Amino acid sequence: MIKENLAKVRSTLSDGVRLVAVSKTKPVEMLQEAYDAGQRLFGENKALEMRDKHQVLPSDIEWHFIGHLQTNKVKYIAPYVSLIHSIDSLNLLQVVNKEAVKHNRVIDCLLQFHIATEETKFGLDMEEAKALLDSPEFTQLKNVRIVGLMGMATNTPNRDLIRQEFHTLHTYFDQLADTYFKGHPEFKELSMGMSHDYDIAMEEGSTLVRLGTSIFGARDYGIPVND
Ligand SMILES: *Cc1c(COP(=O)(O)O)cnc(C)c1O
Repeated sequence: MIKENLAKVRSTLSDGVRLVAVSKTKPVEMLQEAYDAGQRLFGENKALEMRDKHQVLPSDIEWHFIGHLQTNKVKYIAPYVSLIHSIDSLNLLQVVNKEAVKHNRVIDCLLQFHIATEETKFGLDMEEAKALLDSPEFTQLKNVRIVGLMGMATNTPNRDLIRQEFHTLHTYFDQLADTYFKGHPEFKELSMGMSHDYDIAMEEGSTLVRLGTSIFGARDYGIPVND
């Protein structure tokens, strides 16, 4: 089924949009199946789960961290993670930088913005993002690189609201691209869109869609994950 799902999803992707296969809670056998069908980019939201999967799966997989990241867990992903989608504080960015130094790497990161109307979602607002980017501490970080923004829309059947929120994120992206990141062509990623709303996200300019359910099927949270 995974191979068929991937083919179906790929046929719907707009030009220039990359697919992050969100494999959280799924066993490595299912990731291997997606890998065998050509998928190389996987997204996880728990550091220990990602570490365990990274250890046993092929080394040419690009691992994206997409969930809330605790500072004490950064060490489990720093040696190999290729993009962290969920930077929501200067403190977290400083810890990522510190761990990246240990491995002599530069780790690419996205700033996560809070665009949903729900209180529970993590992320920065524009004022907080500017404060972070303006801080002297930020300018000293040499082993992290901000390559774009990420956001999650409200979980709602109201597609107009979802579109509005993605549109807002795109305007934030444009504002920052024209100011703080002028002359930084690496600032080009807009991570938005999940299984139920990625069609809207692509219309609003997404470059990375994060799809779990439509590739691997519904998730079963019955088994507690140790993280
Ligand atoms: C789980 C998750 C996804 C994928 O959600 P689906 O609805 O299964 O496509 C995308 N982004 C983040 C941040 C997630 O935690």
